[in-house]
Amino acid sequence: MGEGTTRAVPDEPDLAELAALYRELHANPELSGAEHRTAAEVARRVAGLGYRVTTGVGGTGVVGVLRNGPGPTVLLRADLDGLPVREETGLPYASTATGVDPDGREVPVMHACGHDLHVSCLVGALGVLARSPDAWSGTVLAVFQPAEETGTGAQAMVDDSLFERFGRPDVVLGQHVVPYPAGMVGLHAGPAFAATDSLRIRMFGKGAHGSRPETGIDPVVMAAATVLRLQTVVSREIAATETAVVTVGSLHAGSKDNVIPAEAELTVNVRSYTPAVRAAALAGIERIVRAEAAASGATREPEFTPLDSFPVLVNDRAAVDRARAALVARLGERSVVDPGPVTGSEDVGAFGAAAGVPTCYWLLGGTDPAEYARAEAAGRVAQDIPSNHSPHYAPVIEPTLGTGVTALVTVALAWLGT
Ligand code: ZN
Ligand code: ZN
Repeated sequence: MGEGTTRAVPDEPDLAELAALYRELHANPELSGAEHRTAAEVARRVAGLGYRVTTGVGGTGVVGVLRNGPGPTVLLRADLDGLPVREETGLPYASTATGVDPDGREVPVMHACGHDLHVSCLVGALGVLARSPDAWSGTVLAVFQPAEETGTGAQAMVDDSLFERFGRPDVVLGQHVVPYPAGMVGLHAGPAFAATDSLRIRMFGKGAHGSRPETGIDPVVMAAATVLRLQTVVSREIAATETAVVTVGSLHAGSKDNVIPAEAELTVNVRSYTPAVRAAALAGIERIVRAEAAASGATREPEFTPLDSFPVLVNDRAAVDRARAALVARLGERSVVDPGPVTGSEDVGAFGAAAGVPTCYWLLGGTDPAEYARAEAAGRVAQDIPSNHSPHYAPVIEPTLGTGVTALVTVALAWLGT
């Protein structure tokens, strides 16, 4: 806490120990829903800090509770999972881990979204709070959720009676590391993270010899035309004042040059901030896919299968104001920005929605500030600074970790420390 409060000043985190934890987690990532090793490590650490720890909540989720007198209950959230990405950072603690994906394939695994950093920051913040009982009063409810990347882990913990078993929080707090300069935090009130819908689309042609296209219906051409036409959903059908993203993330058809295959498969990812834009984008996609199939003379209608879905994450305005005031007091005005809404998606909103309480979820800069300044001066931030999910994404450990711990403690104390 800053000056002007009557409470004791919280203890400082052991950043060297947290950095060691971070490197250890980074080198050993696990896929969504399979975070067994990570969960066990978290449970051991958090229990060691004096929290009452429960494992296996909603799958591999871990809950830690620390009661410290009367007062509000603050839910602090981190996510445990890595991604099926082959790490190319070249770091000494880079991952060489593999896992088995839902289709049964062995895939490389990397903490390409920085969830290892979220875990390390939360363990650090829990340590500070546990060692500073005179600085606050109330209950800390630490939630380490599985399977954020599939949009299922938060809801799985809620469905496993999270709030009935561990108490209902007054606010849900958390953070996500992003490619902003380290040392900075970003908060945005209102819709802050986009809704996501992803779908698998199968388009059917008719297989034939590559030398005799007139005897078949080519799904490669059908899919290629579809991919190009889908680019018009955002550019021609969504108002310039609205925001949406339509990405065709995969396209598979055929296996040999002289065989016209029988079908093609696309996966499409859609981001939106309002129900109207979401509906318009999804309807536009379906219309275009059906029309391109018809234009190719397909004899069978395309098939649409919904995959992951995340609701829009809405940050409570009053909670953001309270958090921002505390962060500005602690980190200084220049380190706290409003980045506007981001097109990433997050399932942390499921906790606040289920508990009927405000959510405040902020962004944590993780890029070396000098490197960021160079890219910004050259007008090349988008090209030169790797983003989350990139095989090159590698947050700089400090000052990212220290700022993340400070931000969690500071915002938690904005509820607990008064
Ligand atoms: Zn991610
Ligand atoms: Zn993430």
